[in-house]
Parts: sequence; structure tokens; C-alpha cells
Amino acid sequence: MGKILRIASSRRGTNHSKAHRFFLPKTKYNSLASNLKSQTHTVTLAFFEEEAVDREKLRTLFPREELLFIPELLGVETAPAAQSAEVVSTFVRSAVNTEVLRELPKLKFLTSRSMGTDHIDLKTCAERGIIVSRVPAYGENTVAEHTFALILALSRKIFQSYERTERMKFNREGLRGFDLAGKTLGVIGVGKIGRNVCRIARQGFQMQILAYDVQQDPALAAELGFTYVANLDELLSQSDVITLHAPYLPSTHHLISLENIAKVKKGAVLVNTARGALVDTQALLWALNEGILQGAGLDVLEEENFVYEEAELLINDVPAGEDLATVLRNHILVERDDVIVTPHNAFNSHEAVARIFDTTVENIQAFLAGKPVNVVKAKD
Ligand code: NAD
Repeated sequence: MGKILRIASSRRGTNHSKAHRFFLPKTKYNSLASNLKSQTHTVTLAFFEEEAVDREKLRTLFPREELLFIPELLGVETAPAAQSAEVVSTFVRSAVNTEVLRELPKLKFLTSRSMGTDHIDLKTCAERGIIVSRVPAYGENTVAEHTFALILALSRKIFQSYERTERMKFNREGLRGFDLAGKTLGVIGVGKIGRNVCRIARQGFQMQILAYDVQQDPALAAELGFTYVANLDELLSQSDVITLHAPYLPSTHHLISLENIAKVKKGAVLVNTARGALVDTQALLWALNEGILQGAGLDVLEEENFVYEEAELLINDVPAGEDLATVLRNHILVERDDVIVTPHNAFNSHEAVARIFDTTVENIQAFLAGKPVNVVKAKD
């Protein structure tokens, strides 16, 4: 059975719409950790996926622990390689669902080398008493910078220009772009990343900024020079550039949908560096076809794990229903000249990866010391 079958079957088992986040009582952390400390056996730490894993440094930092390095994604078929592990670390492409967790009977601590934890079934972890930590901050400037890489690539038709000159053609027909100065940027989610996007937009490009967030911070708005809108429709109808920086939660599934995308200002561009399923792919394609959106820059795609491993997927385990439709729609998106897709790469700077590594080490050390940090907190 190939790698994709593992990924696909594990992905299917994740029910994001029912995902909730739970607190684990503090007393429970302590008893878990003291159980670990009192054990005479060597604690096993397993690291899945290669991103932000420095094997040599980890061996130096954890000389008494047994370290397992599994370069593949964590899935139902790879999990048994870590069945002795009390501590497991993954990145975002591993769908850590009930079936996968069942294969990890000793797991006590799961530390994701990411900000988002929507790839983890937090409910099952809570029921099993597994503590989950993440890296809460590593790339607020990094992801904001990538956001502007996508915005500028769209506004100045960089990709089309590059493709043309690669063919030794130097005419400018169809390559006219638009200025950012004076245009309106709509920021959905003004958290750590969103506020950096606002800062760059205001200070670097003299843009007007509208923001939509379920929590408003008037002092921040005054400091960074943006205006909150009362509702999402208002932002969609007034923004020339729309950028998403909200987390993926049941409440943010298809935040941009067939219902509201028609309200987007004609000719706007949409950028998504947050999570693919914040945008209904069908709605996005419709808006591009209708000329409502003149372009899109996407670092994340709905059901992106299917796309990454598609060749194997089609041999081993063909997706069905909506999953198949989304895979096909993603294909159409990737092929379009007015859409730029990067492979969930917004986080991927040397500096950010070093911060991810350092925080992951701190997370593991804190857990082993009985004082877990960066534990995922309950959200709606
Ligand atoms: P954050 O928690 O600091 O900010 C998220 C903001 O979204 C908060 O202000 C929150 O109130 C707001 N929000 C929540 N629900 C909302 C809703 N329904 N409508 C509007 N706003 C809403 O998170 P962050 O660090 O800024 O990261 C944002 C997201 O970026 C992460 O959740 C993650 O999914 C994504 N991300 C992507 C990459 C990448 O490589 N592409 C890297 C890091 C993070």
C-alpha cells in the first residue's frame, strides 16, 4: 500500500466540522509528567515529516531519550513505527485523527511544529489525556511577507512577465498591472499575521485598510491605521485586495462562500495564506470565471494533501464525492493564468524554521519537566 493511501484514508477520518478544542486540567499535566519522570525506561520521542527537524541538534539536546526520525507523514501506516513513543512531533501535512491516534498507544504529548492545529483531532486527544502543544508564534512577519509576495505577483503580473521573457518575448501586451498605493486592502483576521500585513500595507504601500475580525481592538486599529467594518460583506464589497488571516475552525469553514463571493468588488484580487477551506473552491472558480475576481494568490488549497500526493492517490485510492470535486477544481485553479499557487510555503524562511525548531524543543523540554507550555487552548 502506497504512501498516499495512508494519507488519504487518514484524511477522511478527520471530521473538521466537529472538531472542538478542549482544556486539559492542570493537575492532569502534572500527574502525566510525573508518571513519565518516575518511569525508569527511556522516553521515546518520534519526529514525523522533515520540516524543521535538525537531527544532530536534537540528539545533543535529548541525550537520554530515544529519538525516532520518520521522514514520512504521520498516518495509519507510519504510526506503528512510533508505537513506543510517548512524545510525537509532526507538521501540518499529517492528519492526526482518531485512527492514527489509535496506533500510538503510549502517546502522552503531541507537539505540532505549526501555529494552526486544525490537522489534529483535539477532541480525541483530550479524551485520551494527550497534551497537545503548538508553535504559537514564529512567522508573523514571515507569512505577512509571503502575503505581499503574492499580492505583488498579482498586481504586477510578475508570473506572466517571467514566463514571457523566459520565451525571449519582450512585448508588454497584457502585462499592465495596478498600483497598490491608494487602494483598499481588506484584511480578514487581524491577529499576529494580519496585523503585520496591515503594517506593511500602510507603512510600505500607503494603502487604505479595512479589517474584519470577530474580536476588535480599537487601540490596534488606531496604531496601525485601519478601520474595522461591521460585517464581512462590507469588507468584500469595498476592498481591491482581500487577504485571509483567520484560523480554520468549524465557524470559519467556507468563510468565503457561494453566498457572499458575489458581493466582492468587481476586479478585486483574493489572497489566502491561512487555510484552504476558509474559501469554497467552487465559489472561487465561479468568481474568477465571472470576472468578479481578476486573480487569486493561494498558498493553501482546500484538501491540499490530496493534491500534493495526487499521482499516488489516483493509483491507490480515488477520492469520491466532494473530495474528488475539490481535487479537480484545484487542478483547474493551478492551471489558470490568473491564479498563483505556492505549496503551503509562506512559513518557509530560514529564520522562521529556526524559530519553529527552538519552540518545539522548548515544548518538549517543558513537557518532560512537568510544565507544558504552548498548550492548545479551547476555541469555538
Ligand atoms: P492569530 O490567532 O494570531 O489570529 C487569528 C485572528 O483571526 C484573530 O484575531 C481572531 O480573532 C481572528 N478570527 C477568528 N475567527 C474569525 C472569523 N470568523 N472572522 C474573522 N476573524 C476571525 O493567528 P495568526 O498567527 O495570525 O495565524 C493566522 C492563520 O494563519 C493560522 O491560523 C494558520 O492557519 C495560518 N498560517 C499559515 C501559514 C502558512 O505557512 N501558510 C503559517 C502560519 C500560519
